[in-house]
Amino acid sequence: MQNVLVTGARGQIGSELIPALRARDDVETVVATDIEEPDDDGGPTEEIDVRDAEAFAAALSEYDVDTVFHLAAILSARGEDHPQLAFEVNIEGFHNVLEAGREHGLDRLVVPSSIAVFGPETPTNPGEMTTLAPRTIYGISKVFGEHMGNYYSWNYDLDVRGVRLPGIISHKTLPGGGTTDYAVEVFYDAIEEGEYTYFVREDTELPMMYMQDAIRALIGIATADRESLEYPCSYNVGALSFTAGELTAAIQEHLPDFEAHYEPDERQDIADSWPDAVDDSAAREDWGWEHTYDLETMTADMLEHLEEKLG
Ligand code: NAD
Repeated sequence: MQNVLVTGARGQIGSELIPALRARDDVETVVATDIEEPDDDGGPTEEIDVRDAEAFAAALSEYDVDTVFHLAAILSARGEDHPQLAFEVNIEGFHNVLEAGREHGLDRLVVPSSIAVFGPETPTNPGEMTTLAPRTIYGISKVFGEHMGNYYSWNYDLDVRGVRLPGIISHKTLPGGGTTDYAVEVFYDAIEEGEYTYFVREDTELPMMYMQDAIRALIGIATADRESLEYPCSYNVGALSFTAGELTAAIQEHLPDFEAHYEPDERQDIADSWPDAVDDSAAREDWGWEHTYDLETMTADMLEHLEEKLG
């Protein structure tokens, strides 16, 4: 991968992907960029707004970038509060990245898609080629991203890749306004307050993944043999599927006094429009996708790290 540039570096995923990339032998430089300059933690940093096409293109030249991980985005719940901003960042910003990548002759562009591409009409346990009829601006932008990635691959031989990530659970950086944020917030409140009020119903079940597996998925798709990829921009990657109630029970195994309450808000509608689980057999067959954490091991690891962090 050699010289890598990451957008959205300060976010939940970027803050953990960057050290993982810097630890790799096939990576020379990782340029961390975000709309606010990322902390300098061992490599170059730049303040770049992806809506600024010229600034993004200039960074590709300046650092002789081979591979971009494009993580900058406005997530699902925040996007519904600010649809115009989500359009500008997720659709126009991504178009800037594609165009700059094409002109620069980028080797590879990795951009996560999301389970938000699905909608209420999507069948149970969907595969890659299924009904994509999202109800959120975020989901619409992710469908756009998948199709535009393919378009640039076919027409300009730009190697664009991505996986449809589920809700990501992690302890380093708080999530940035998604519908699955409850699966992270609950751990903080369980430790600090002894109780948590979910913004979804107890029986809400969604696909989720622990951060270590998300990093493995992104690096896995980035380094896969291009010829083996039947759905380069749209692979489902499954790991965990659990209800809010099951997550509560898993936490109570460690913290028996933890109390959970359920007060669904407008994010329930978004959660209800997504499938409970996805069929990821194509990713497992085509490029060897495997997850490693289940609900029990993820819960134990989250609590251990957060108890240490929160004192
Ligand atoms: P996040 O919200 O934590 O981070 C996004 C980052 O983008 C933030 O640091 C923000 O400052 C930056 N950003 C926002 N507007 C920008 C702009 N105009 N220019 C430059 N940077 C800007 O998101 P994340 O969870 O790290 O997600 C990264 C990627 O993974 C996104 O494409 C997201 O859609 C995808 N994804 C995330 C999840 C999840 O659960 N976290 C699930 C599915 C897909």
